[in-house]
Amino acid sequence: MGQTLSALENEMDVLGHKPYRARQILDWIHKKRVADYDGMSDLPASLRAHLMEKFPPGALEVVRTSGSGDTTRKFLFRLPDRQLIESVFIPASPALYGETSDRRTLCVSSQVGCAYGCKFCASGLRGWKRNLTAGEITAQVFHAEKITGERVDNIVFMGMGEPLANFENLSSALEILNAPWGFEIGARHITVSTSGLAPQIRRLAEHPVPVRLAISLHGATDDVRGQIMPVNKKYPLADLFDACEYFSSRRKQKLGLEYILIAGVNDSPEQARLLAKHARRLNAKVNLIPYNTVEGLPWKRPSETRQQNFVRTVRAGGVVATIRREKGHDIDAACGQLRLRAEDEQAPTS
Ligand code: SF4
Repeated sequence: MGQTLSALENEMDVLGHKPYRARQILDWIHKKRVADYDGMSDLPASLRAHLMEKFPPGALEVVRTSGSGDTTRKFLFRLPDRQLIESVFIPASPALYGETSDRRTLCVSSQVGCAYGCKFCASGLRGWKRNLTAGEITAQVFHAEKITGERVDNIVFMGMGEPLANFENLSSALEILNAPWGFEIGARHITVSTSGLAPQIRRLAEHPVPVRLAISLHGATDDVRGQIMPVNKKYPLADLFDACEYFSSRRKQKLGLEYILIAGVNDSPEQARLLAKHARRLNAKVNLIPYNTVEGLPWKRPSETRQQNFVRTVRAGGVVATIRREKGHDIDAACGQLRLRAEDEQAPTS
């Protein structure tokens, strides 16, 4: 898992096997959803032994699942080095930005922890540990499908970590998720969300897989955004918006602006008016997420009236805006909490 076709063909060459074996292996993993080499019955025993040695299986171990049936489900996975990551499965749901959809979405993590330290986010609370490999990113999809028995056909990189800070592995993962020999998920059903790494946004604009882009904005002025997102000092709004405009010029899809509503921080009418102005300039849709309380953090969700006033003001500015209700996942600050709790539980024994 985690190999692109061209990389695996090279490996076959190095290991002294025919290149077509690479397609056979990927077919087992991605079409037949078999990751166990012993189950790949049409491969010679010598190749299976080589694979076992070169790419030992068992990248992810399922530690816990929460939620069931047709509700949002969270999965906690343990990596071979005992680090923990989360993914969230959202069954047929109103997709992002209010577009109705019967897509089955998986919100995936791209790093263990996060270095960006957004003040409202559980994922950043204990800092960054390491990048996930492409195999660890795509294995989340493989295991989510195994657990739920459903085919994932929409991916959002809104779980733990800043995907654009792990660009090389993200890049391979996007190829594997999208390719006909991979998971075959359409590029417009893959969304990469970033806290605003302007240079990498430009890089993503050149990626051969034309994915969607969502920006975690959370503040409509440098002042307000800077209070809760330290990354804004390095890439202030002017730089970020220039990069976004470049991205849009290379892609057909609309950008998404994510905006967590936090009481008394970024929920004023003035912020709403400016948010609408930015969204108009970027031709973007706005997704508002009422803040979910995180243990140990001081922030609160605004009242229902204040939320409604905010969305009305944004819409009055001529912008498509939705409020995302408790579908549970991702960039709502609940992401990362499952891992923090599990780390605390496992601390005395590890
Ligand atoms: S919101 Fe995203 S970028 Fe910010 S700390 Fe959390 S995971 Fe990192």
